[in-house]
Amino acid sequence: LFISFEGIDGSGKSTQARHLAESLRRAGRDVVLTREPGGSPGAEEIRRLVLTGATDRWSAETETLLFTAARRDHLEKTILPALAAGRIVISDRFADSTRAYQGATRGDLRAMVDALHSLMIGREPDLTFVIDADPASSLARGLARSTDELRFEDFGLALQEKMRAVYLQIAADSPRRCVVIDGAGPEDVVAARIADAFAARAPA
Ligand code: ATP
Ligand code: C5P
Repeated sequence: LFISFEGIDGSGKSTQARHLAESLRRAGRDVVLTREPGGSPGAEEIRRLVLTGATDRWSAETETLLFTAARRDHLEKTILPALAAGRIVISDRFADSTRAYQGATRGDLRAMVDALHSLMIGREPDLTFVIDADPASSLARGLARSTDELRFEDFGLALQEKMRAVYLQIAADSPRRCVVIDGAGPEDVVAARIADAFAARAPA
């Protein structure tokens, strides 16, 4: 079973991916919790290349190739072997992040993103939780965390709002794979919503 968490920066993906992993482990399931960009040694190296330096260090096209290369390595080295061993894989971001960020941030590159995905990745999660959170408070949470890796803080609220709309459209386009989760409220309340949705949607 392959599960991804998606949503705008600061929406609570990492927090909720961890909650779900812990609750499945408590239930005796073997879970690999991983993340993108990254999730394998090679992909973590590419993460450094794409998340450090000036935003215009790479053209939008080169950036998309780098994210896709990182995803391919993550898939080959981490995700597919774990799935083959019967483990549950929970990934904090997957291909929807590239559809949203690389596909819609620096012009409309969605056709290229989709073509690269079918050529090089060709795999979707079985289940994707799209955490729908308020753009302004998510931005504030992300900034409060003050990581060097929050790439788009200069673009601020407008980007958060745009990415929220893109994610909701992605979820609407893939209703069998994606479940939109209300991200408002305390962590444990959001975790309970996800646990309910998981119980309703995941195969036994
Ligand atoms: P990013 O995409 O920027 O990495 P994210 O979506 O993975 O962000 P988290 O890292 O889980 O988000 O959360 C961002 C910050 O908000 C963290 O400091 C986290 O502790 C806090 N946070 C997460 N969920 C909640 C919540 N429900 N209420 C309040 N704070 C929260
Ligand atoms: O989720 P995480 O905090 O690891 O992401 C780091 C940064 O990379 C975020 O600012 C996010 O918006 C950006 N990102 C991106 N394209 C992706 C995935 C993440 O620009 N495909």
